[in-house]
Amino acid sequence: MVVGSGLAGLQTAWQLAGAGEVHLFTQSRAGAGNSSRAQGGIAAAVGEGDPDTVEVLVREGPAAVAGLARLGIPFDRSGDRWALGKEGSHSVSRILHASGDATGAAMVETLLARVRSHPRIRLFSHTRVTGLIAEGGECFGVTAVRGEEGIVCRARAVVLATGGCGQVFRYTTNDPVVTGGGLAMAYRAGAALADMEFVQFHPTALAVEQNPMFLISEAVRGEGAVLVNSCGEAFMGRYHDWKDLAPRDVVSRAIDREVREGRRVFLDARGLKERFAARFPTIFARCLEHGIDPRRDRIPVTPAAHFLMGGVRTDSHGRSGVRRLFAVGEVACTGVHGANRLASNSLLEGAVFASRVAKAAGRLPRVPAFPDRVVRQEMFTVDQENPVYADAVRRIMWEHAGIVRNRNSLIDGMNALSSLREEVPGEYLECHDMIDVSQVILHSALKREESRGGHFRGDFPEPREEWAKKRIRIRRGEPVEPIAIEKTGM
Ligand SMILES: Cc1cc2nc3c(=O)[nH]c(=O)nc-3n(C[C@H](O)[C@H](O)[C@H](O)COP(=O)(O)OP(=O)(O)OC[C@H]3O[C@@H](n4cnc5c(N)ncnc54)[C@H](O)[C@@H]3O)c2cc1C
Repeated sequence: MVVGSGLAGLQTAWQLAGAGEVHLFTQSRAGAGNSSRAQGGIAAAVGEGDPDTVEVLVREGPAAVAGLARLGIPFDRSGDRWALGKEGSHSVSRILHASGDATGAAMVETLLARVRSHPRIRLFSHTRVTGLIAEGGECFGVTAVRGEEGIVCRARAVVLATGGCGQVFRYTTNDPVVTGGGLAMAYRAGAALADMEFVQFHPTALAVEQNPMFLISEAVRGEGAVLVNSCGEAFMGRYHDWKDLAPRDVVSRAIDREVREGRRVFLDARGLKERFAARFPTIFARCLEHGIDPRRDRIPVTPAAHFLMGGVRTDSHGRSGVRRLFAVGEVACTGVHGANRLASNSLLEGAVFASRVAKAAGRLPRVPAFPDRVVRQEMFTVDQENPVYADAVRRIMWEHAGIVRNRNSLIDGMNALSSLREEVPGEYLECHDMIDVSQVILHSALKREESRGGHFRGDFPEPREEWAKKRIRIRRGEPVEPIAIEKTGM
């Protein structure tokens, strides 16, 4: 059983079909999610984080990318070589892209066609998984809701590929389906969530309030565009030696500061001239829709929640602490991104770890019978959506766990969410999932009394040595205590 049809889910289903029949459940239309929104591309491949999994990513990345190309993904070429782009914090050009800035859409489309035509994969769209059937540290399957129908599905292995949780923040580049449901379900089933304080805010979303916010890829700065403030100053030199291609957290905080000091911020890509439309056709078209012509106008930008470095803690084969339960892609925390993901490494993560998950999951013995009591009635509640409650969560998280955090504000955020939880009726499942995940983020952010990567504390603005090798891992019902970073991943 694979849950989710982004890059990680599709690739896992494809690989897993070699070992037996695969069911793929995905809410909304197939292919919805962050993968099809990815613009910049896929890097092959370096990163920072847990040494074991980073080595896997670096070593197996090129083969995974070659495998994707063989499946038919039309990566852009320059003569007889791949055309390689560059993004923030990369020292060399190593990012493959497709259709200019529509890399994710090209990948999802190709993989979806493959998965749909595979005789051993059954894809169920508009099927929302509502719970994991789990007891005693073992997972036996999932419950799901499709229209009015409740479904119980036993499975030898359940692979969560449900993506991150950007939608718990008011301003986000993430797809509306990315609300953190997989994280909440895994947490309730007894799996540990780790590194949840590390949320990456992307510095340059188009500053037009909408959900999701439209991303202006870092690759635009890679091609020479420059951030300027309303005084016309190219200000990044004041904040970091790498200027516009400094790490995302640095650029996001710099923009946040400029705005707090009363200056608006723009991306000046006018130097790209006619090249802009050819290299970034999607961004170009979207800017025009909002009356901005990047060849002539500066593009107004603002930071937005973008990527979750944390997730369901797994080893290098995607195994969570719960037997038969796996996680892959953004929902997983392999540790590979450390405290701050390097641009274009998450599509790569999905591709590399999908194969490893498929190998481990495909070897499991048949699932035993499970007691009826494990399937609870509330798992079939027809999920209600309520934009008012969801919006309340999103506002609380943006205000209290956004780009700059501090102790008092995090505590206020936790209290505000606890009060909100009392108000939200039980059938608003998605909203309860959002609250669960948000509370874990707030707890983790409160515990880490330092600043590192995507996590910035105004009251502890520097990294602290004693935290360098510590990880916050949260398991339901256990006290939240930092632990030493584990050697092998679990
Ligand atoms: C605008 C944007 C641009 C990006 N650009 C890049 C880039 O250039 N390069 C890069 O490497 N990364 C990029 N990223 C990050 C990258 O796209 C994501 O990290 C990655 O696509 C995650 O893939 P995934 O398969 O784990 O999850 P997703 O692609 O988000 O898919 C999650 C899937 O799970 C399904 N799902 C969720 N909950 C349930 C449920 N309860 N029941 C059933 N189904 C469920 C969803 O419907 C969806 O199909 C970008 C992200 C965004 C938002």
